[in-house]
Amino acid sequence: TMAHSKSLLVLENFIGGKFVPCSSYIDSYNPSTGDVYCRVPDSGKEEVEVAVKAAKDAFPVWSSKSPLERSQILNKLADLIEHDLEAFAQAESKDQGKAITFARTVDIPRAVYNFRFFASSILHHVTECTEMATMGCVHYTSRAPVGVAGLISPWNLPLYLLTWKIAPAIACGNTVVAKPSEMTSVTAWMMCKLLEKAGIPPGVVNVVFGTGTKAGEALVCHPDVPLISFTGSTLTAQRIMEKSAPHCKRLSLELGGKNPAIIFDDADLSQCIPTTVRSSFANQGEICLCTSRIFVQRGIYDEFLKRFVAEAKKWKTGNPSDPTVDVGALISKEHLEKVRSYVKKAQAEGARVLCGEGVDSLALPPGNQKGYFMLPTVIAAVEDESCCMQEEIFGPVTCVVAFDTEEEVIRRANGVKYGLAATVWSGNVGRVHRVAHRLQSGLVWTNCWLVRDLNLPFGGMKASGIGREGAKDSYEFFTEVKTITIKH
Ligand code: NAD
Repeated sequence: TMAHSKSLLVLENFIGGKFVPCSSYIDSYNPSTGDVYCRVPDSGKEEVEVAVKAAKDAFPVWSSKSPLERSQILNKLADLIEHDLEAFAQAESKDQGKAITFARTVDIPRAVYNFRFFASSILHHVTECTEMATMGCVHYTSRAPVGVAGLISPWNLPLYLLTWKIAPAIACGNTVVAKPSEMTSVTAWMMCKLLEKAGIPPGVVNVVFGTGTKAGEALVCHPDVPLISFTGSTLTAQRIMEKSAPHCKRLSLELGGKNPAIIFDDADLSQCIPTTVRSSFANQGEICLCTSRIFVQRGIYDEFLKRFVAEAKKWKTGNPSDPTVDVGALISKEHLEKVRSYVKKAQAEGARVLCGEGVDSLALPPGNQKGYFMLPTVIAAVEDESCCMQEEIFGPVTCVVAFDTEEEVIRRANGVKYGLAATVWSGNVGRVHRVAHRLQSGLVWTNCWLVRDLNLPFGGMKASGIGREGAKDSYEFFTEVKTITIKH
């Protein structure tokens, strides 16, 4: 209705330093109320074409700036986002459904830090040099930015994951065309408003909003975009590989997970239980690194379950803008239904749902009755072969099962198609070292979770991805290396 559309937030693409309207738009929902509150450009080939052209035009000047100049600009952008941290956090919470406290303490501070981190790390890379004295030769490597980078990000940690790509891409001297998730585009649009003030020249960062199949695929198929950095689902990654194959594009793929927690009988449960509740349910379980299979050694299984369920029940689910809320709304109605269907399947297979969905009742404030909420749900007595133990659910659902030996648990933990992250809990340093070594997982946290040093590689094995991101890894991905030989 007209009255309704007047109050809607309407986003515009950001191309060549200017906001430009689009001919058609997609409705975007507030997950905590179920209302349409925003309209997102439904860009396609045409818009992507203009954005890639702008990025291509901006490349010669941006790529020839010194790392120090680019570093200063990135730091300025970090300061500007930080200055508006509260507005960004509110917007992220409203758009994604996540708890405001999480957006304030995790999403936006990390987006700021992504720019600061790469502003610094770009100053410290060195290239290699070797000498062949008998031949009278020296060899050295030089690294140069690649060109226009296509960046595609998901809805779970919108600004956090988008800036984790934009920052290294432009720090290295590339220009970019970014396509955030159509479900969470607001904070990327807000960031665009700060680029000019930060000193980022027009065309260096272009943001095209829209769906994956239209805008995303146009970017993937564009011949002038030689590299694509993608974070999202394994299924979409397969499609991106297919579509980019004719161009032999360079791809970085950060995909899904089915992350195990392995808890030995000598673990410090007072640390392990609250951390594993957090690793299962943080951001509504919508983090690629979230734990969804908990293997507990038989001797402590009953005690663990009892204490784990009690701790999970302490998590408060409700209006995301309430600072005391831990679990906000899931991203969409469709996603909520999908997550719920896993719980139903588990029950049909004879598993026990110990708390949450279908067991406890959820009291929501009047304004949130139509929101996409679900309580943290713990499932026990589920078979390893069950879809709940094999497929990524990406919601507030975690499965707890018992194991007997180290050998057995390593085999079972590795028995999925994914290999992103794992946690191991034990007081025995020899054991954590042995187990960590044998897990098929790009990241292993022992006696902790989600403690990240951005210097080190991040990424998954098997169906969880190809490539790594981090100080050195992102630098290598976003630059082309050349070996030069000089003979006297
Ligand atoms: P998704 O794959 O549906 O979408 C991700 C992005 O790709 C969106 O911007 C989407 O519009 C776009 N897209 C969709 N189809 C496309 C196509 N054919 N061509 C080009 N682009 C296309 O994923 P999602 O549902 O937004 O995010 C959840 C998934 O992301 C989960 O599987 C999660 O594990 C994964 N994820 C991984 C990491 C990681 O670092 N490994 C981090 C966060 C999320």
